[in-house]
Amino acid sequence: MKDEYDVVIVGAGPGGSIAARTAAEECDVILLEKRQEIGSPVRCAEGVKKTGLQKFIQPDEKWIAGEPQCARIYSPDGTMVELSEELAGGEVGYVLERKLFDRELAKSAARAGAHVMVRTRATGLITEDNVVQGVKINRLGEDFDIHAKVVIGADGVESKVGRWAGINTTLKLKDIGSCAQYHMANVDASEDYCDFYLGSPVQGGYAWVFPKGNRTANVGLGVVANRLNGKRSVDYLNEFASKIFPEGQPVELVMGAVPSSDELKSTIANGLMLVGDAAHHCDPLTGGGVINAMEGGKIAGDVAMKAVRENDASTKVLAEYETAWRASFGKKLKRNYKVKEFFVNLPNEEFNKLARSIQGAKIEEMTSAGFVKHLIKANPKLLLDIRHLL
Ligand SMILES: Cc1cc2nc3c(=O)[nH]c(=O)nc-3n(C[C@H](O)[C@H](O)[C@H](O)COP(=O)(O)OP(=O)(O)OC[C@H]3O[C@@H](n4cnc5c(N)ncnc54)[C@H](O)[C@@H]3O)c2cc1C
Repeated sequence: MKDEYDVVIVGAGPGGSIAARTAAEECDVILLEKRQEIGSPVRCAEGVKKTGLQKFIQPDEKWIAGEPQCARIYSPDGTMVELSEELAGGEVGYVLERKLFDRELAKSAARAGAHVMVRTRATGLITEDNVVQGVKINRLGEDFDIHAKVVIGADGVESKVGRWAGINTTLKLKDIGSCAQYHMANVDASEDYCDFYLGSPVQGGYAWVFPKGNRTANVGLGVVANRLNGKRSVDYLNEFASKIFPEGQPVELVMGAVPSSDELKSTIANGLMLVGDAAHHCDPLTGGGVINAMEGGKIAGDVAMKAVRENDASTKVLAEYETAWRASFGKKLKRNYKVKEFFVNLPNEEFNKLARSIQGAKIEEMTSAGFVKHLIKANPKLLLDIRHLL
């Protein structure tokens, strides 16, 4: 390990690995991961949109565990609406094996020339005259400094890098999705469907079943943290899982949080960019963040190369990152935050009415936006409030 690189990236999730792979085309890059194993433990339901993923990596059956064709959405009283993928793109097209997927992305960064270090934790930033100039790290108990022209913070939902740089990344309770999930065996989950249970088993959240083949599935739920009513998300999960798969056996428990907030005012500082969950780039409505993390990682990697080329990593140059991610997926994040706020506050009976209003309709767009648009078409009065958001 050297003590100076062009670009240091903190966190080898999808955002960090894609940023590293991109910047390594021209720059001397180091990718740091605090865990000893990239990709593990998994904190994800592993559902991603096919077209989103294919922009970054050729699909490989080694890390694709399921390929459901349709989604079923259940309202609290069990009314079901089906969204078919055959007719259009898919919000959930692959169910990944993220332990292998994340590792494959990190390997692709290494093949592009990035130096990858596991069991290496960033512990602070090196800052001079209000400019980030590198990171302090601890590797296997020893402290080191690594200087860099650009630092990319891709350290996930619990990100500290942003805060160290003076960016306020604090999440309000109402903007944290508190999640729990079992990977379950011995379940009768159809391999053709991803199932979503809205407002169930608790208002302010949804549960999911994503099939992973061989009678296994990810069975989980997320609830906005201010609606937990004194319980833990795992308590609601136990209630849900035992009802839906009484014979199912959990072989893994995942607990974690997703940012479900409005966009950050700034994701850059002099010498620094934030990517993925660290930048609150997770979709506030669905909780999906893998594809946005990769999109943001690609843009940050490109901008980092430019900053190194021009020997200027001031916010003047890094503003290009900010402008580009907002133009790419920022508008959708903004809109989906408002839609989330609306649905979180919708009583279950209203949910049931909405679902009944479009039951049996052929929804050709298997996306959250497609679903909401259909609801609006069927309920113009009720949804007048959010029509302008879409
Ligand atoms: C229960 C659950 C279900 C989810 N389901 C889905 C889903 O189905 N589809 C979807 O798209 N998204 C889902 N998400 C969200 C998704 O997992 C994240 O949006 C995605 O992983 C974000 O990628 P990232 O690269 O920004 O961060 P992460 O994948 O979180 O990676 C951050 C990395 O940084 C490392 N790190 C942190 N601090 C340091 C440090 N100081 N030094 C070095 N390394 C550090 C961490 O160890 C980690 O490896 C889910 C999340 C949860 C919790």
